[in-house]
Amino acid sequence: MSVGVCELCGSPAISVCSLCGRLVCPDHYGPGGVCSVCRSAICSFCGVRLSVARCVYCGRLGCESCLVQIDNVRRACRECLMSVEVKVEEARRGLERLRSMVAKLKESSIA
Ligand SMILES: [Zn+2]
Ligand SMILES: [Zn+2]
Ligand SMILES: [Zn+2]
Ligand SMILES: [Zn+2]
Repeated sequence: MSVGVCELCGSPAISVCSLCGRLVCPDHYGPGGVCSVCRSAICSFCGVRLSVARCVYCGRLGCESCLVQIDNVRRACRECLMSVEVKVEEARRGLERLRSMVAKLKESSIA
């Protein structure tokens, strides 16, 4: 028994997309119970919700809850934000090391 026709290609539909509610055929119905249109727009982090934007660092699509708003227009994923924070922290430590080295050099040149 067919439920209707695929809204993407017109073939007999077998299921309904759980995200957009489109009727879809086996060709357009995929893992997770979503249609191919939604799959291409789905969050690449949780794979559950529709993506709203791309991470400014890695360019991956993410949903509202997987991306963090970093300013008015930009969003970044948690992974990138974490690695950016680590880099900033590393740079800061490196600078401190450099400063203490310079301070030691100055001390030794005075003495
Ligand atoms: Zn189809
Ligand atoms: Zn869909
Ligand atoms: Zn997500
Ligand atoms: Zn990212």
